[in-house]
Amino acid sequence: MPDAGTKAISSEAPPGVRDDHRVQVRPEDVAALRRALDEARTAGDSGEVPIGAVVVDASGAVIGVGRNEREATHDPTSHAEVVALRAAGAAVGDWRLEGCTLAVTLEPCPMCAGAAWLARVDRVVFGAWNPDYGAAGSLWDVLRDGRLNHRPEVVAGVLAEECQALLEDFFDDRRSPG
Ligand SMILES: [Zn+2]
Repeated sequence: MPDAGTKAISSEAPPGVRDDHRVQVRPEDVAALRRALDEARTAGDSGEVPIGAVVVDASGAVIGVGRNEREATHDPTSHAEVVALRAAGAAVGDWRLEGCTLAVTLEPCPMCAGAAWLARVDRVVFGAWNPDYGAAGSLWDVLRDGRLNHRPEVVAGVLAEECQALLEDFFDDRRSPG
């Protein structure tokens, strides 16, 4: 998640980054991102960096939602993805989220990419790219590391412009005087 200066957040893949997954976007991915965007807006409304996430099970049901709540919780790990994964695990009574999709408005950081991998989700769908510290293709590619025996499918750039605009507006508002 960005702390400041989100100039680098982009709806376009950074140069040299793998962006070969747009073709696999499904209608349910877009629906999941829309739900994640709702969470992101709620986060922004309460002064948090507007990032939201949802976990969807194999039937398409939303089983966990989360939004960035670091300011409210004083918890450096309360990123949207972690909050959503925890909620999903609690909802199904299992930390194993095989068959599930994690959808998030911004490319996951290394912690969240790691959490998604540990949860064994099948797919990670994200909106805007995060060249500052994205770990799903930008700085690292944790989810598609060939040394791992389980590698979630990565779908990038879903509703990227909307996700990016939400973050940019948030930081623009903070910068503007008054
Ligand atoms: Zn994160």
